[in-house]
Amino acid sequence: MTAIKLAKSKGFRTQINCTLFDGADPERTARFFDEMMAMGLDGITVSPGYAYERAPDQQHFLNRERTKKMFREILSRGRGGKNWDFTNSPCSWTSWRATRLMNARPWSMPLYTVFGWQKPCYLLGEGYVKTFKELMEGTEWEKYGVGKYEKCANCMVHCGFEGTAATDAIRHP
Ligand code: SF4
Repeated sequence: MTAIKLAKSKGFRTQINCTLFDGADPERTARFFDEMMAMGLDGITVSPGYAYERAPDQQHFLNRERTKKMFREILSRGRGGKNWDFTNSPCSWTSWRATRLMNARPWSMPLYTVFGWQKPCYLLGEGYVKTFKELMEGTEWEKYGVGKYEKCANCMVHCGFEGTAATDAIRHP
């Protein structure tokens, strides 16, 4: 909070990235969002913590059903979430609350690290390539996604689903 205040006092656009884990209390989360807005924060990105294979603490990550329930409960507060400036697209929120299945487009938010471009996304480390072209053309994108690949089973994270939300918003407004 000190850092946020300092950044704001210097005139920077300031946002937080907020990952919610299993057991997060919706009421407490809502109050936290209220507090962030009261500080003049410019935006909040929210993502459900997903038990990606390298995560050290598997038991506190959310599966898809618990994710949807939690987001429904959070968004029943704060005037349906209107009190809070989220940087997530509204479609992401819809998918987190809804029962219909949107699937990931992991190529929409590729990850570059000191090792190179990570295949296929930052959650799954299935190798690195040197160039963006190799990543795009050499990854078997069709084999990834919920229902297609065991390791993707509980994923609803923004790195895969924001791209889907943006595409769907244009294709099916
Ligand atoms: S569903 Fe997509 S974003 Fe999620 S782990 Fe699988 S490839 Fe990555």
